[in-house]
Amino acid sequence: MTLRDLIARKRDGGSLSDQEWNFVARGVASDAFPDYQVSAFLMACFVRGLTSSETLALTDAMLNSGQRLQLDHLPMGRVDKHSTGGVGDKVSLILAPLVASCGVAVPMVSGRGLGHTGGTLDKLEAIPGFSTRLTLAEAARQIERIGCVMIGQSAEIAPADRKLYAMRDATGTVAAMPLIAASIMSKKLAEGLTGLVLDVKTGIGAFLPTLAEELALAKEMVSLGSHHGCPVVVLLSNMDFPLGRECGNGNEVQESVEALKGGGPPDLRELTLRLGAEMLILGGVERDVAVATRRLEGVLDSGAALEKFRELVIAQGGNPAVCDAPERVLAQPAISEPYSAYRDGIVQRVNALVVGRGITALGGGRQTMEDRIDPSVGFRIHAIPGDSVRKGDPLVTILAADAAGVAAGRAALDEAIVIGDAPVTLPPLISHRVTAAGVEKLGTP
Ligand code: URA
Repeated sequence: MTLRDLIARKRDGGSLSDQEWNFVARGVASDAFPDYQVSAFLMACFVRGLTSSETLALTDAMLNSGQRLQLDHLPMGRVDKHSTGGVGDKVSLILAPLVASCGVAVPMVSGRGLGHTGGTLDKLEAIPGFSTRLTLAEAARQIERIGCVMIGQSAEIAPADRKLYAMRDATGTVAAMPLIAASIMSKKLAEGLTGLVLDVKTGIGAFLPTLAEELALAKEMVSLGSHHGCPVVVLLSNMDFPLGRECGNGNEVQESVEALKGGGPPDLRELTLRLGAEMLILGGVERDVAVATRRLEGVLDSGAALEKFRELVIAQGGNPAVCDAPERVLAQPAISEPYSAYRDGIVQRVNALVVGRGITALGGGRQTMEDRIDPSVGFRIHAIPGDSVRKGDPLVTILAADAAGVAAGRAALDEAIVIGDAPVTLPPLISHRVTAAGVEKLGTP
């Protein structure tokens, strides 16, 4: 068997056996193939797609390319949440300590920014000293001690996915439903979970272009979870415009601290509470969404969630003063420049995809895997679709390192923001809930 033969088979629309998927994952994890062959293979998969049984085989092959967290001895449920990727989506930073405060263990393995979307690891690393590189043994000890851990994929966890994830980002092959499903589930199934909540993004800023494909992705991931005895709940949430007001890295940590104190923008709080409620139910400490939501609200508003975040930051070597005065601890941008409304009217659109690309152009995301991220840059958004504005009103603050960054940010906002006269009806923040029992419509998209 050679990868060259498998590339040709996929190119011609054929499928691979379980054994062949294992050959691919093992070879990728051990760097046995040249990057040009892996790239060609990914493109063939992107164009031709995978059957459901191939998606399962790829998931298992990537899962088995590494080890698993052993947490069976813990008395409590172990539940994680993962998102398919958004702009301004800092929910994980709030959820892990919040849910751990309620007695459900959260062993969270996150990713870096991918395409136009931000990554939890990049945001956490904006906190001086914070390390996301723990061994599995260290991660397990931290969960026993404080109930949560937030780490990156190491050579130990689904290493084949780690390599393929980076290659997909560089080869325009991210937006393929089976590849996304296998990538997410191989990491999550390595965490030794008793339940998983997924946030599948919909709309302009989502990877997949149609609701039908997003629902298919949700169903595929539920089915992959079922194969491994891990119940999965998926919520579909809107990503036409960024979540919350801060988009970047350090400034998103600042907004997360606000939310952990019971504040923050309403859309961020609503999505966090709803995902958290599903986690408490899967974790076996609540039975009802409304009751679980009230409990989570209490934990946020009392400051208990922020104290758990402080424990997490200390445990992973970060500066805990980020919980008290984030603006003093986090790197601040050299320039903060307002971007103003070009006419009177109603904000029609703040395009999440274009805002995400703008963050990369400012230096807050990667063009290549080797790029270093500037945690101080990004956008602070003051107006969202539906807001009435007057010419000259500040719509966004551009957080930049230099004049070139300001120009790049301005160019992105010229494209992202549309002001018009038509009234705007906002899409529901959460439109569908997908479980093994089927699809439930929660709002009208
Ligand atoms: N998140 C992942 O972990 N993998 C993907 O492919 C997309 C989002």
